[in-house]
Amino acid sequence: MGIKLTFHGAAGTVTGSAYLIQTSRAAVLIDFGLFQGFNNHEDHNHIPATLDVAKLDAVLVTHAHLDHTGRLPLLVRRDFRRPIYATEATIPLTDLILRDSAHLQAMDTERANRKRQRAGEPLQAPLYTAAEVAALMRQFQAVPYGKPVEVAPGILARWVEAGHMLGSASLQLCVQDQGITQRIVFSGDLGPKGAPILHDAVGFDKADIVVMESTYGDRDNKPLPETVREFEALVKNAVAQRSKILVPVFAVGRTQLLLYLLALMFRRRVVPKFPIYLDSPMAVEATKIYWEHLDLFDAEFQALNARRPVLADLDTLKATPTAQDSMALNPLPGPLMILAGAGMCTGGRILHHLKQNLWRDNTRVLIVGYQGEGSLGRRLVEGAEQVSIFGEKIAVRATIHTLNGFSAHAGQTELLRWFGQMAHCRPRLFLTHGEARGREPLARLIQQRHGVIAELPELGTVAHLNQPVGQCRESC
Ligand SMILES: [Zn+2]
Repeated sequence: MGIKLTFHGAAGTVTGSAYLIQTSRAAVLIDFGLFQGFNNHEDHNHIPATLDVAKLDAVLVTHAHLDHTGRLPLLVRRDFRRPIYATEATIPLTDLILRDSAHLQAMDTERANRKRQRAGEPLQAPLYTAAEVAALMRQFQAVPYGKPVEVAPGILARWVEAGHMLGSASLQLCVQDQGITQRIVFSGDLGPKGAPILHDAVGFDKADIVVMESTYGDRDNKPLPETVREFEALVKNAVAQRSKILVPVFAVGRTQLLLYLLALMFRRRVVPKFPIYLDSPMAVEATKIYWEHLDLFDAEFQALNARRPVLADLDTLKATPTAQDSMALNPLPGPLMILAGAGMCTGGRILHHLKQNLWRDNTRVLIVGYQGEGSLGRRLVEGAEQVSIFGEKIAVRATIHTLNGFSAHAGQTELLRWFGQMAHCRPRLFLTHGEARGREPLARLIQQRHGVIAELPELGTVAHLNQPVGQCRESC
């Protein structure tokens, strides 16, 4: 049968990442993510019929985000007992993200089942439970960056930095089957160059086959230093006005980036210290995991931290673990900042703070992440004058600030540069993890620059990799 690559997700969409490599003697899955968002993508949140779990030798994970790990617990019900390989920092972050996902699903299912019960319809079970996540996590094995690991007979894998979140990686597989060897590179999600805290993506200089993300294949994001300057100016101004700054955040990544930027501002005395409240148990846990992996942070952070621990600059940072702690923040006067979930204001503690403060004109709401269609966050960004929170009408007198430049994804120029390192090999290229508007312009640019014609796989596409391709044919 030769070497086969099947696209079980993120093919024409940005979620559900899952790629299967099969040879005559082995099968490995690269990521197994949840489909998220609209257009009934969630209907695909199952194990595809053509994926034979009993024959899987291993799963290789690029990073912890739910759209790359969210279907892994489904394997538990199929008695999958083989290793799941990931970098050391990815393991606790995956645990955190999957536990949160199981918790949200339990709540959603309970709510939906109450309705089903009243309608006389059969009840449904959640996609997976916390117990299944716990069982899954026991199969994880940590791999170091840079060192090849034999993950299945005839398949060596090497993880390198992808600069997208703590522990994130791109993968290079060396796959041998029936006399043919293919070097297959998976980009994973690639981060922007020069992002604070994280190392930049490393990439590879040789590949026969490349599977590459194309989220922002159509554009460059605003330069990060510009966004950091905007953030600083805004915080300075808000503190001078003694404002309350509410920041809806996703727990992992953006929260730690903002805390780092605030620490820098305090250290450089750009702004006097003021209280910061981390009002999200999940964000507190994620921040702890980041802080336990300081060795993975970039050189700039290391230098700063060596002079004086960055944590010392954050002595006005407080965690508010319980709901009571959170409510105790209501009467406190500004200046202060509250970081709370959910990131799109679709639930969580941020809703309480918005209800208490949106109608006051000395409140600032700082939007630092993508706001999905139909979310309360999107309504605020679009300038709604009144919103409904917990069934109550709330006037929006607060100032809403939107900072678009904190993306965790590489822009077009950076994607081209990352591929450019391997372009001399003229590899066979598949563009994934992008919608048409991202991957089509990127495909055109790569063809113009490098003469490589990208393939744009669909969900379920099977690629046969039996033929030698490219110009870097030496064995790996
Ligand atoms: Zn990601």
